[in-house]
Amino acid sequence: MTVINATSIDEVVTALREYPAARLLQGGTDVMVEVNLNRTGVGDVIALRRVSELRRWHVDDESRIMRLGAGVPYAELERSPLCDLLPALAEAARTVGSPQIRAAGSLGGNLGTCSPAGDGLPVLSACDAVVHLQGSTGSRDVSIHDFMLGVKRNARRPDELITAVSIPLTRGFQGYAKVGTRNAMVISVASACLVHDSEGGSVRLAFGAVAPTVVRARVAESWLADALSLRGPLAVTPRIAQEFGRRAAMECAPIDDHRSTAAYRRHAVAVLAERLLLRAASSNASGGDAR
Ligand SMILES: Cc1cc2nc3c(=O)[nH]c(=O)nc-3n(C[C@H](O)[C@H](O)[C@H](O)COP(=O)(O)OP(=O)(O)OC[C@H]3O[C@@H](n4cnc5c(N)ncnc54)[C@H](O)[C@@H]3O)c2cc1C
Repeated sequence: MTVINATSIDEVVTALREYPAARLLQGGTDVMVEVNLNRTGVGDVIALRRVSELRRWHVDDESRIMRLGAGVPYAELERSPLCDLLPALAEAARTVGSPQIRAAGSLGGNLGTCSPAGDGLPVLSACDAVVHLQGSTGSRDVSIHDFMLGVKRNARRPDELITAVSIPLTRGFQGYAKVGTRNAMVISVASACLVHDSEGGSVRLAFGAVAPTVVRARVAESWLADALSLRGPLAVTPRIAQEFGRRAAMECAPIDDHRSTAAYRRHAVAVLAERLLLRAASSNASGGDAR
C-alpha cells in the first residue's frame, strides 16, 4: 500500500497516472466507512488534504459565478461568508452528519461518492452547477446534470480528479429541506432544494434520495412558469404551491428500502416542494433575499 500526500493538483494528476487504481482521499468520511466495512480493502491512496488549491473559493465579480474548490469542508460552507452567498448549500451542509463529519467532509467527496442521498447534490442541480475535472490529458467542465449518472456512478474518468464546482449566484430565495428518520445525523429519506432566480425569472427544484440519482423537476418548473410570473416577488397561493408539489412528486422514481417506502417518499417530496415554494413567496413578501 502506497500513500501519496500530494500538495498540488499537478502532483495529484501525476500520481493518478502512476497509480491508476489509487483511491483519492479528501475528508475520508465515505472512504473510511468503506474501508472499515472491508468492502474495498485499503489499496493505494492519494491524500488530497494538503492540496490547498482544492480548499480555495472565489467569486468572479463580472459573471457572478462562484468557483468553489472540491475540498472546501462543510464546516466552511455553513458559515459566513459562504452561507450568505450560497444559502441553500449552507442549509444542506448543516444537515450533514455531525460537526466532526462536517469538519472533514467535502462537496468533492459527495460528488465522488455520488449517492442519490448526498445532501450537496440536489443543491448543485438546482443551481445548475458545473463540475471541473483535471486529468492527465487536460481539464474539462461537465454540467452537474451530465455528471451524476446513477447510484454511486458519475462521469469522472479514473485518471481525473474533481478540482472545483462553479455555481452561478442568483438573487432571490434559496432553500434546502430534508426528511429523515430522526432530526440529526441522518441520511435523507427525501430531500429537496428550491432556487428562485428573481432576476432571471426562474424557479428550479431538485430532489435527492427519490430516484437512482438526483432529479430535476423540470415539468413542475415549467408548469409554475406558465402559472405565474417568476420575475420579482412570487405571488404564490396555497393552491398553486400544493399543485406544484403534487406535479413535482410525479417526476420522482422512489423505491422501498430499509429507510422508507416509495409511497412515503413520494408524499414527502410533494410536501417539501410545497413548503419550499411557500417559504420562497413569504421571503419575497418580507423583503427577504438570498443575498
Ligand atoms: C457518520 C457519517 C454521517 C454522514 N452523514 C451524511 C449526511 O448527512 N449527508 C451526506 O450527504 N453525507 C453524509 N455522510 C457521507 C460523507 O460525509 C459525505 O458524502 C462527504 O461529502 C464525503 O466527503 P469526503 O471529503 O469525506 O470524501 P472522501 O471520503 O474523502 O471521498 C469520497 C469519495 O469521493 C472521492 N473523492 C474525494 N475527493 C475527490 C476529488 N477531489 N476528486 C475526485 N474524487 C474525489 C473519493 O475517492 C471517494 O470515492 C456521512 C458519513 C458519515 C461517516
